[in-house]
Amino acid sequence: MKDLTIYNTLSRKKEKFIPNNSPYVGMYVCGPTVYGDAHLGHARPAITFDLLFRYLQHLAYKVRYVRNITDVGHLENDADSGEDKIEKKARLEQLEPMEVVEYFTNRYHENMDSLNVLRPSIEPKASGHIIEQQEMVKKILKNGYGYEINGSVYFDVEKYNKNYNYGKLSGRKLEDLLSNTRVLDGQSEKRNPFDFALWKKASPEHIMRWPSEWSDGFPGWHLECSVMSTKYLGEKFDIHGGGLDLLFPHHECEIAQSTAANGEESVKYWMHNNMITVNGQKMGKSLGNFITLYELYTGENEVLNQAYSPMTIRFFILQAHYRSTVDFSNEALMAAEKGLHKLLKAGETLKKLVAGNKSMVNIDEYEQKCYNAISDDLNTPILISHLFDIVKIINSVYSGELEIDKENIEKLEKLYNTFVYDILGLVNEEKESSENSISGELIDMLLNIRLEAKANKNFELSDKIRYQLAEKGIVVRDKKDGFEWEFEN
Ligand code: ZN
Repeated sequence: MKDLTIYNTLSRKKEKFIPNNSPYVGMYVCGPTVYGDAHLGHARPAITFDLLFRYLQHLAYKVRYVRNITDVGHLENDADSGEDKIEKKARLEQLEPMEVVEYFTNRYHENMDSLNVLRPSIEPKASGHIIEQQEMVKKILKNGYGYEINGSVYFDVEKYNKNYNYGKLSGRKLEDLLSNTRVLDGQSEKRNPFDFALWKKASPEHIMRWPSEWSDGFPGWHLECSVMSTKYLGEKFDIHGGGLDLLFPHHECEIAQSTAANGEESVKYWMHNNMITVNGQKMGKSLGNFITLYELYTGENEVLNQAYSPMTIRFFILQAHYRSTVDFSNEALMAAEKGLHKLLKAGETLKKLVAGNKSMVNIDEYEQKCYNAISDDLNTPILISHLFDIVKIINSVYSGELEIDKENIEKLEKLYNTFVYDILGLVNEEKESSENSISGELIDMLLNIRLEAKANKNFELSDKIRYQLAEKGIVVRDKKDGFEWEFEN
C-alpha cells in the first residue's frame, strides 16, 4: 500500500496513517443539523472527507464511513439552553419537527449527490439513538464524571480534568477557561459555566422529548457523536473529521465523554477542514453572507454574478488545501470554472491521441508526483498543478509537438482517469448533459423502428422494444399519430 500522511489535530503534526486493524478503516465525520439548506460551509467538509474516503478506497482499504444527521439536541447558539434549532424551524413553518428533518435531509442528499459526494456507509440520526445516548450518560455518571440536578445531567469538566486533560485537542487550558468565563448568572443550575449538558430536562413547551430516569427530556448536542461513532466503529476507531468550527467545544466534549465513559480515548486521527470566507469575511447567518448550494447553482443570491455548476464548486474547493481557508469571490469561482473546463476538455482530447513509435516523456514520473502530492496530507493544490502539466502533455501530443508511444498513452489514460475522476471525483457535466440528449435521440430512433415494425405487423419486435425500454425506466405511450415517451419517476 502507498504511504499516506495526514495531519493529526491531536498531535499537531503530520503522521503516517496506520489504521488500528488494516485493511479496515473506521471513519466518522460530523454531518449537518438539518434545519436549513446546505451552504458552502457544508460543501467543504463533505468534499474534503469524500476525497479522503475515495483515496482510502483507492489504496484498497475497506472503509466504513459514518456521517451523522443531527436532528435533535442542537440548540440555538450551540448552547446548553435556548430553543432546539429543528423545533424552532418547525414552529415558524408550522410543521412537525420530523417533517423539517425529512425535508432538509432529502435536500442535503440532493445537494451532496450533485457535488458527486459519495454517500457514507452509515448515516445515523441522533433521534434514532436516544437509548444508546442514555446508556452513555449512565456510564459517565457511574464513573463519576457527571452530576444530576433538577432532572438534567451535566458533564463535570473540572473533575474530568483532574484525571484526564480537558482541552488537549483545542490546546485550551482549563485554568484559562476558568478565568475567561463569566461567573454564572444565577439562572444556571450548572456547577461550572463550562460544564455541558448530557441530558436536558424539557420545558413544558418543548416538543422533542423522551422519557428517562432523570426526566422527560432530550440529549445534549455533543453526546450523539460519541455514541454513534463508537456504536458503529467500535470503542477505538481510526479517523474523526469535521470542520474547524467544531473543534471547540463540540469535539473537545466528544473526547471527554468517550474517555469518561470508556476509560480511554476513541479516536486515533482527528482531522479538521478549514473555513470558507466570503469576500474575506467569515460566513454567518447574522452577517447575511450565507450562500446556499441551490443559490450557487441558480445564481439567485445578490452576491453572485452568475450561476455556478456543482462541479465548479467542487473544483473550487479542491483547488485549496483543506487546512487553508478558502475565500469565496465571483472572480475565484469564475477562474475555477475556466480551469475545470480546461482540465476536463483534455480528458476528451486524450481519447483522440494517436500513438507514435517512441516516447518523448515518461509518464511514470508524473504518476509518482501525483501520488506524492495526494499522499502528503491530501495536497490537492499540488496534485492539480501536476494534472495541469498532464493537460499540457495531452494537448502537445494532440497538436503533434510531442510524440508518445502506445504504452505511455495507456499510462496517461490510467493516470488521468484515476486522479481526475476516481480520486478528485470530478465529472464532465457538459459531456453528461450532451449524452443525455443523445440518448433521447436514440430512444426516438428505436421507437421509429418500432412504428415500422408495427406497420409490418412484426408485433414480436415492437413489443420487445417496448419492454426493453420499460426495463430502462422509459414509459412509451402509443398515440394516433405516433408515440410519446418519458422517463419514469
Ligand atoms: Zn459531531
